Amino acid sequence: MLRPFARFRAHIPTRPLSLCRYCGAPWPCSPARLRLLTRYRDDPPGLLLHLGAYFYAALADQPHTPRVA
Ligand SMILES: [Zn+2]
Repeated sequence: MLRPFARFRAHIPTRPLSLCRYCGAPWPCSPARLRLLTRYRDDPPGLLLHLGAYFYAALADQPHTPRVA
């Protein structure tokens, strides 16, 4: 259950757990997905690049991920 006005708060991921900093749900939580869809409605490649950056950061946080030089 989201807290009141949760959709107006910054729903950004924490590291290294990739949980929402505000609501604690796995990121992207529902408000974050809605915000991303709204922001990148006319720019699907931009959304892909944005999520790719988060994915790369999440991979780097994994303890057994080989480092790329
Ligand atoms: Zn959230």
